[in-house]
Amino acid sequence: MAQSSIEWTEMTWNPTTGCTKISAGCKYCYAEVMTKRLQAMGVEKYKDGFAVRTHADALNIPYTWKGSKIVFVNSMSDLFHPEIPVKFIQQVFAVMNDTPQHTYQVLTKRAERLNELHHLLNWTPNIWMGVSVEDMRVANRIDYLRNTNAKVKFLSCEPLIGPLPELYLENINWVIVGGESGRKARPMAEWWVWDIRQQCQEQGVAFFFKQWGGVNKKKTGRELGGRTYDEMPVTNYLTA
Ligand code: SF4
Repeated sequence: MAQSSIEWTEMTWNPTTGCTKISAGCKYCYAEVMTKRLQAMGVEKYKDGFAVRTHADALNIPYTWKGSKIVFVNSMSDLFHPEIPVKFIQQVFAVMNDTPQHTYQVLTKRAERLNELHHLLNWTPNIWMGVSVEDMRVANRIDYLRNTNAKVKFLSCEPLIGPLPELYLENINWVIVGGESGRKARPMAEWWVWDIRQQCQEQGVAFFFKQWGGVNKKKTGRELGGRTYDEMPVTNYLTA
């Protein structure tokens, strides 16, 4: 577990590590860069670099947190990667089911596998399931997500590297948008962001603008039209 600087979460929990690239959004994968650093520093958990690994000893960590946390699951991996056994995914879900005081945000690019396995998983309301949608080429991930039994469903459009016109957001609760950051960041046009914002507004979906990104993300900041957008999904059914 680690405190996170990601604007839409509080902390991270990585019961698995490692991944392989699957689409254009992976080009400058943050997890891969961080893994190399941690491996070079001799951190045991990352001794195999970016190879996919499960960490049974990390499963109990949520039981040690005090209060209620918002947790990004697998910032250093993809839980639905084909090399992660179904049994282990079920163990991760069992921990999330057993700790309803915490809210878990699971994000994948393997929407097809998510769709294959979702009926084998227990979707308690504290599990928010998201797919990454960096451009229209991977927009079909939204349909796979929509089809799941997850109670809260979200899109992470980061790094946004192309426009996303005509988004069908039925049964989607939350959309996060962010530009790529770093030395080689691919540009994000302002109108792509406004267009997604408008579609969210028209379809009643919470909109969160994370960052413009670029070479110096602190400088470009996270204001859109002079204000920030930090909407979160409505979860009042939790008490139902
Ligand atoms: S799916 Fe995520 S963690 Fe895996 S390579 Fe792509 S960006 Fe990195």
